[in-house]
Amino acid sequence: MIPPQPQNGQRAPLWQHELRKAFSRPLDLLAYLELDPTTAGLDAGSLRDFPLRVPRGFAARMRKGDAHDPLFLQVWPSAQERAATPGYVVDAVGDLQRVREAGLIHKYQGRVLLVATGACAVHCRYCFRRHFPYSEQLAARDRWSPALSDIAGDASIEEVILSGGDPLSLSDDKLAELVAALDAIPHLKRLRLHTRQPIVLPERIDERLLAWLDRTRLQTVFVLHANHAAELDEQVRTALLPLRQRGIMLLNQSVLLRGINDDAQTLARLSERLFACGILPYYLHLLDRVQGAAHFDLPEDEAQALMRVLSSRLPGYLLPKLVREVAGAPAKTWIAWERSAPSS
Ligand SMILES: *Cc1c(COP(=O)(O)O)cnc(C)c1O
Ligand code: SF4
Repeated sequence: MIPPQPQNGQRAPLWQHELRKAFSRPLDLLAYLELDPTTAGLDAGSLRDFPLRVPRGFAARMRKGDAHDPLFLQVWPSAQERAATPGYVVDAVGDLQRVREAGLIHKYQGRVLLVATGACAVHCRYCFRRHFPYSEQLAARDRWSPALSDIAGDASIEEVILSGGDPLSLSDDKLAELVAALDAIPHLKRLRLHTRQPIVLPERIDERLLAWLDRTRLQTVFVLHANHAAELDEQVRTALLPLRQRGIMLLNQSVLLRGINDDAQTLARLSERLFACGILPYYLHLLDRVQGAAHFDLPEDEAQALMRVLSSRLPGYLLPKLVREVAGAPAKTWIAWERSAPSS
């Protein structure tokens, strides 16, 4: 094991150490999971534009010897990604037309999304960000000032959403500096983080993170991203406790994924496990039609049928909203799923 490198006289945080140890070579991951690389379907064909990345702790939640494990399927670069499917495009959600300043996306009223970094702790194969030209658009530290003056100059903005990539890929020094600058903008009320890191790298929630969360005057919301109950083990639940103790709202968004969570039982277990971890289900997204991800997609009518079953099993507060991102729409588009009541 490589010991953590000292940084500014301090030891590097444990999470950075864990991140350096993440799986990046497909054969290493297969060996760890005791999967035979010659098995049909394990041809890692699609690494060129979006390499493999899986933290060890996340891989530890996968079932060994199971090529259909729902966590493994989310990260494995299968040969199916190379299929060019008509209608599946590079910029599926129209973000590139909406960037006001470097890294600032203002699509919806009252809230802006700041693409704080392009980096993620895990690479999810279904993700639309895989084609996003981060090198041009991300608000690198020295490029935050135009975005910040843009926010400061528009009093209609009440909420800033830190997104990416994964905003928690940034160091706590950088995040503390950014959040202090946001604190100083009087019309801002809320800070939201869209992050998958507490799920895939629970070590990320540490004293340094909590220190700047304690300092901000902004009401804080975390929108986490888990797609399957098996992602939420006891380590994740425990890591989230300090956020819950601080009254930080924890929500979750999932993506509906063929072969991973496309049945009512799996979705019900996910909602129940989220609640056991102190998280409320927020959105269930229909897949963005992004090139290379068509094999994960589900037709809308199947999703609607799933929601009907789910609604008959769960309390209303554990039912996520079924949504799709439609380019140019003023909000996420809610997909209705209720059958009209039988007429008497
Ligand atoms: C999804 C998204 C939001 C947040 O939408 P909510 O419905 O408030 O969760 C904000 N800005 C952009 C650009 C988004 O894509
Ligand atoms: S942005 Fe989220 S969904 Fe996409 S690769 Fe990163 S962690 Fe995964």
